[in-house]
Amino acid sequence: MADTQEMDTEDKMSFVNFECKLCDYEQLCSDNEQAPFKCPECGSKWYTLRFLDKPPSKQEFVNIGFADNERWSWALGCNENQLQKKIKQHPNAEWRKAPGGGYQMRIANRTEKKRRMKEAGFEEFG
Ligand SMILES: [Zn+2]
Repeated sequence: MADTQEMDTEDKMSFVNFECKLCDYEQLCSDNEQAPFKCPECGSKWYTLRFLDKPPSKQEFVNIGFADNERWSWALGCNENQLQKKIKQHPNAEWRKAPGGGYQMRIANRTEKKRRMKEAGFEEFG
């Protein structure tokens, strides 16, 4: 199998932004092939791939979620039975009852998310 990769990517870069719909995991990949087929964080196969035909500018990074934007996380969420335990595990975390049941944790920014994932025993991929 001769795998000759064409290196004409200099002025024709394309990017794919993987966005999990279940949790808030995102990953910017240099092409479609590198995009995960399921969420490395929560295992969900419910995701969107956003295709970008040029390297994202700073402005676009903001738009696709690289900035500090607040989210309600399912990955760090839990059900009603686990809530008390979770509150102890994540001091000062803010919770809300999710529509349809369960609780979601408020994540102010990516730094906080990393910290909370660590508290929960998750390691962030990528
Ligand atoms: Zn996910």
